[in-house]
Amino acid sequence: AAKASGKRQWRRFQPQQRARVMERHDLQARLNRAIADEEFTLCYQPVVDITTGDVVGFEALARWPSLGNEPVPPGQFIPLAEETGHISALGTWVLHHATADIARLQHSARRTRPPYLSVNVSARQWRDTGFLNEVCRALDTAALCRGTLQLELTESVLMQRTEQIDTLIRELKDLGVRIAVDDFGTGYSSLRYLRDFPIDVLKIDKTFIDDIPQDPRQVALVEGIIHLADTLGLQVIAEGIETQEQWELLADIGCGYGQGYLFARPMTVEQSGAVLQQRGGVRPSPQV
Ligand code: C2E
Ligand code: MG
Ligand code: MG
Ligand code: MG
Repeated sequence: AAKASGKRQWRRFQPQQRARVMERHDLQARLNRAIADEEFTLCYQPVVDITTGDVVGFEALARWPSLGNEPVPPGQFIPLAEETGHISALGTWVLHHATADIARLQHSARRTRPPYLSVNVSARQWRDTGFLNEVCRALDTAALCRGTLQLELTESVLMQRTEQIDTLIRELKDLGVRIAVDDFGTGYSSLRYLRDFPIDVLKIDKTFIDDIPQDPRQVALVEGIIHLADTLGLQVIAEGIETQEQWELLADIGCGYGQGYLFARPMTVEQSGAVLQQRGGVRPSPQV
């Protein structure tokens, strides 16, 4: 009887599964074309100094407007591009376009401390042998000053520690590129990699920020991370700040930098230019 009902269940789920596979297939085909046709765009989310609201940098975030269809969120197309290997081509495109954009922004804003650019780099790209070369090419072409580029990686990259990753990170550091750990705390956090790798920045994942200040345990965790980072000489960026209360608490406990809808949503490069012209940085708008 169990076997029979198992069979029936299988039949019931099959069409649904098939639809999902077809959908993935369709999306994959569209992704192939989109990469060939360079259908992607970039938006930029400001990183602000928590105490002053000054914009210190921008994180490039890929967008797929996907003509004639609903825009596909990066949470969907990035993993797909990773699986199919297309992330290398997409990543190269992002690197070149973002460096060109930031060069123009730096030029027009003429700040004493030019804003930096942070680019997300997926695990697969970190294993690409041509990656370092692409970074050099992008920096040269855009003629960016040293220290403008920050590359974000996730904890998984550091956990699969290899000779190649080790060398790559050191070579990037020699170029003046800064390394940030994205979504810090959500992966296989190991204190060992903080000791072994020349990391510059920890980006505390939004899930840790969501429940502060109400949840004292979360507050303690975030405080602990900030303290650890201070001791190791690392910068901290809190991700996903949405409320005034979160912002005030983070400022109180000495978090250096932040990103979030409270300050600014991801925006076009034109809007980013306008934000840099504003005096007094990005003022958090009170939530209604
Ligand atoms: P991430 O690098 O952790 O980027 C932060 C994400 O949180 C972005 O989502 C951003 O729009 C969103 N966010 C920022 N502030 C807030 C906030 O206050 N509230 C909420 N609810 N969300 C906030 P997005 O743009 O959808 O990107 C999702 C992820 O896709 C990124 O997470 C990153 O892992 C990946 N991604 C995006 N662009 C690229 C890219 O060019 N290359 C690679 N490899 N990955 C990318
Ligand atoms: Mg990121
Ligand atoms: Mg993140
Ligand atoms: Mg993320």
